[in-house]
Amino acid sequence: MSWSKKTGVVLDSYLEEKITELANQLSFDIVITDGIRTPRMQVDRMYAKLDKTPPENLRDVYKNDDFADEVMDAYPDIDAGIAVVEKYMAFSTPSKHLTGLGFDVRTTGGGVGATGRLSTSEINQVVAAANLLGFSPFLESDHLHIGVPEQKKNIMAMVILLGVLIWISKKS
Ligand SMILES: [Zn+2]
Repeated sequence: MSWSKKTGVVLDSYLEEKITELANQLSFDIVITDGIRTPRMQVDRMYAKLDKTPPENLRDVYKNDDFADEVMDAYPDIDAGIAVVEKYMAFSTPSKHLTGLGFDVRTTGGGVGATGRLSTSEINQVVAAANLLGFSPFLESDHLHIGVPEQKKNIMAMVILLGVLIWISKKS
């Protein structure tokens, strides 16, 4: 079926392509609630989880516990949070949203009766379809996060670079 996105969601052509691949596998429409994020947007999302009553534990959401802890320590200072995000981005991205390799699908969010709210069986269908496509689905409290693989052209560029390096090393 088709997909739509919430106002303000930033996507590029690669993410749109991946979302279309996913939507094509489903028997219902989906709503995309998040895509590419700047470090500032990343901190806003994380602080929103800490603003809740009770606050969410970011360790449950992010694979890197040290990153989660540092952001929780920086809360509620926005600039301090951005500094933590940028520090971690320098060696390994803490969120696939920051590198344009992740998007969110609405499950329970958006208010009662909102389009794109999914039943448990529909959520399971999205997870199964995402796995089939080689994506990495992860069910969060009110949405489904879906990581996608890197663009093939990047992998090709790395293969070519590796080839050049081997060629250079053989010549010397
Ligand atoms: Zn996400």
